[in-house]
Amino acid sequence: MFKNEKPFEIIMFGPPASGKGTQAKLLSETFKIPHISTGDLLRAIKLDKSNPLSQELSDLMDNGKLVSDELITKMVDGRIKEEDCKSGYILDGFPRTQDQVRALEQMSDIDYVFLVDVSDEAVIERIAGRRICKNAHTWHVKYNPTATEGICDTCGEALFIRDDDNEEKIKARLKVYHDNTDPIVELYESQGKLIQVNGEQHIEGVFQQIVQKMVDDLRKQIEVK
Ligand code: AMP
Repeated sequence: MFKNEKPFEIIMFGPPASGKGTQAKLLSETFKIPHISTGDLLRAIKLDKSNPLSQELSDLMDNGKLVSDELITKMVDGRIKEEDCKSGYILDGFPRTQDQVRALEQMSDIDYVFLVDVSDEAVIERIAGRRICKNAHTWHVKYNPTATEGICDTCGEALFIRDDDNEEKIKARLKVYHDNTDPIVELYESQGKLIQVNGEQHIEGVFQQIVQKMVDDLRKQIEVK
């Protein structure tokens, strides 16, 4: 570990279907730190019909609306205090509002803020082919297909199309994304913390850019010491 044993605390930004979740998983495997996707955490609650929040989350998430800052902040705060976050974590889907940024400042010390940059047109094209299993493993019929059509390579579960993955809903989600997240991305940019990577290339190419930026930064820290 570098920088006084400082854990890696990372934020991944990017529009829906930008591949930020895939990149977060790769970072998670490489650095052995958890990938915390607020969308995945919320979807697990939503799918659990015995959970009292299930219906409320369905109503919001299926319509591309954000859940309350209070709920999401409590959830993230609880998660990052867990033992497996001691060496760091990757936040994916959080923060999404100014209030969430403020809350995050109180509970963490972020090192890297990545933006996986993908145009709206490319997002819409990608969404059409996205498939997911109940364990949140994500595939694409053209860009990242499974060995057997309709079956997850990782866990063998059946693949399905997410409720919010259709063109009308994705356009609404892109609007929510730009309305809420663009100002936050700009905020991190103005603080000199934002690292932009080109997301319109293959998975390994995007990952290489991310790791290269971290290596450059760590090298600078070593040189300063
Ligand atoms: P995602 O998988 O990140 O696109 O998230 C799916 C849905 O979960 C979003 O459209 C929101 O309804 C909800 N959600 C995820 N993260 C947040 C957040 N940080 N704040 C509010 N709502 C969120």
